[in-house]
Amino acid sequence: MSSIQSCGIYARISRDEDGSALGVARQIADCTREALRRGWPVAQQFVDNDVSASNGRARPEYVRMIHAVETGQIDAVIVWDVDRLTRTPAELETFINLADRHTLALASIGGDVDLATPQGRLTARIKGNVARHEVEQQSRRLKRKFDESAAAGKPHGPVPFGYRRITKTDEDGRGSYQQDVIYEEEAAMVRDWYRRIADGETLRSIANELNGRGKTTKAGNPWVGAVIGRMLRRPAYLGLRKHRGEVVGPGNWEAIIDEDTYDRALAILSDPRRIPPRGREPRYLGSGIYLCGKCGGVMRPVVQAKESENVRAPAYSCSTCQRTVRKMQPIDELVEMLVIERLSRPDAALDLSRDPSGLREAMAARDAIVARMDGAADEYAAGTITVRQLTRITERLKGDLARAEGRVTSQQPFTALAGMTGAGAADAWAAASMERKRAVLRELVTITILPAGPGIKFAPEQVKYEWKGAA
Ligand SMILES: [Zn+2]
Repeated sequence: MSSIQSCGIYARISRDEDGSALGVARQIADCTREALRRGWPVAQQFVDNDVSASNGRARPEYVRMIHAVETGQIDAVIVWDVDRLTRTPAELETFINLADRHTLALASIGGDVDLATPQGRLTARIKGNVARHEVEQQSRRLKRKFDESAAAGKPHGPVPFGYRRITKTDEDGRGSYQQDVIYEEEAAMVRDWYRRIADGETLRSIANELNGRGKTTKAGNPWVGAVIGRMLRRPAYLGLRKHRGEVVGPGNWEAIIDEDTYDRALAILSDPRRIPPRGREPRYLGSGIYLCGKCGGVMRPVVQAKESENVRAPAYSCSTCQRTVRKMQPIDELVEMLVIERLSRPDAALDLSRDPSGLREAMAARDAIVARMDGAADEYAAGTITVRQLTRITERLKGDLARAEGRVTSQQPFTALAGMTGAGAADAWAAASMERKRAVLRELVTITILPAGPGIKFAPEQVKYEWKGAA
């Protein structure tokens, strides 16, 4: 009979790189069988989940086992193999000393490892070194895996805004890999930002507009221009894979933006002259917004310097075919008139809503609160309630009203229009910044400048307008 009173089983789960690692259940089953065979009563089990052996992460169960040895709770340890026990040669030496002091018996499935004999220690040290070597191999394998996945165009790192990451099965059905797929709701925003930057809008104004609509980043933070700038510089949006700071080739995901638009936006973003003086705004209502009636290209302003001879009036000119050129002022005046008229219609907000039911409900809820406020005022006037009651009712309803207003705003799908519609539309338009006006235009209407021959006077029919979002 053995003299062992109580033994502990120590098992460790380590990184399973090629599927050959030993499951912890198997380790424990084998060790328990070994204890039975030896007639060692099993007192405790210690299991560490040591997924990355190389990073020196704490092993609480190993520490607990050492404590159990030191306090005499166990006088033997069974491990599947010695390489499960310690991770570094130094750790092994400490364990050998411990075993010496406490006359600890150590067994492994492969056989006794008698740490009391020189031969046993040598065996343990060799195994320990082999294990160490394997840990080093593992981190090399891991690095190679990253290189390989870069070469294969597989995504790595945080998922870019505009995508969702999905796991796909390999063609042979044995492994899996990750792929980023376009998430249209966000991707549409990203495309819109590239276009607006190419049109001369600032990062800051894009951020302001997003924050004004209550949009946040994926992390739930407000948008900041610099963050958007960094995002737009990512070659990931072109479908390109970056590795160690360099583009290494196509990714296995779809591009969100075409190269032309990307290049144009990036040229602007990297232009040192772009560092805008504070408060600089776009100066022309239709620049990059109005479309050419001949080719569908966007119109750009043609403005001559005052010093040049034969100064011509500022005009919009097609940036693509260059064949449509029209004086700026009458077009802008007409467009402003049309827009203000449109915004002034009492149903403007409703008309433009993609799903009017939510907005209608929110507006009804808000109107009901206003009606209750009016009702309370009437009752006070009629003497049915006191001024204090009126104040209390009004105070309570004020909070409700603010929340209801918030819901109305959030239900408006075209939020550059928030506060721009209804009876005050003309004043709101006059007070709005050029950026705001351009944002309203973008959301509200498509303006196409129809071609007219040289010398032909401006006529309203030369401006075609199509309201967006209208049924
Ligand atoms: Zn054109």
